[in-house]
Amino acid sequence: MSNGTLPNRSDVWLQSLGWQPTPEQEQQFERLFQQIVQANQQLNLTRITDPPDFWEKHLWDSLVGIAPWLLTESPPQGQVGFSVDNSRPLKVIDIGTGGGFPGLPIAIIKPTWSITLLDATQKKLTFLQQVTAELGLENVGMCCDRAENLGQQSPYRESFDLAVIRAVGPASVCAEYALPLLALQGYAVLYRGQWTTEEQEGLMTALSKLGGELVTVSPVKMPHSQGIRHCIYLRKIKTTDPKFPRRVGVPARKPL
Ligand code: SAH
Repeated sequence: MSNGTLPNRSDVWLQSLGWQPTPEQEQQFERLFQQIVQANQQLNLTRITDPPDFWEKHLWDSLVGIAPWLLTESPPQGQVGFSVDNSRPLKVIDIGTGGGFPGLPIAIIKPTWSITLLDATQKKLTFLQQVTAELGLENVGMCCDRAENLGQQSPYRESFDLAVIRAVGPASVCAEYALPLLALQGYAVLYRGQWTTEEQEGLMTALSKLGGELVTVSPVKMPHSQGIRHCIYLRKIKTTDPKFPRRVGVPARKPL
């Protein structure tokens, strides 16, 4: 069964992010799409396999979160208003990557960055390993573990410049997974759908315990469906107390 091919949306990339992929990167997106659709029959990686939906909800959505790092110039209007150091490659971790989102689209467009894909499920990582080989991505590593374990381990703890995390749990739980893994001044991007004041209050409490601060909450409108998403940017400002992350399962059971 063929699902067709991805739509060409060069103009939409440009309008919405002030950036667009190279033709080679477009081809890698297409190959990623084909591989996922094919493997999905066995692995249940995603419900989103319709080409325009895949483009928007997986590719565009993965990259909108790193909008501040896409350009060397000032961010496009409506995008986040904080500046980042774009002069050096980053060490990135995608926590709970599942079918490779947002980590793989990021790896495709940032070949100088090194990306670690973390997931607790080995069979998903085995698939992602095949995909990265097929796409010729040399900047991607895999790690099969729980974020609660990795966050307590050298050389991972306090070592990443950027952590991205989408659809893994409530914001304060994501913060407990991400902050211990970040180096000082590193950023975490929480990819959220809706965003409420209650969630923000819970997150602020968690951040005060984890050594993080809320940099900004950026609402973004999806270019095709017009759905609203929120990217939450956190920065690590203090070393995280060694008692975090707590043991496997505790962050989700008893959010900070
Ligand atoms: N980020 C992907 C997948 C979301 S599904 C996307 O947005 O499409 C959540 C994934 O997180 C699953 O693959 C699950 O195995 C993984 N996961 C959940 N809790 C985890 C934890 N504590 N440590 C590592 N991986 C975790």
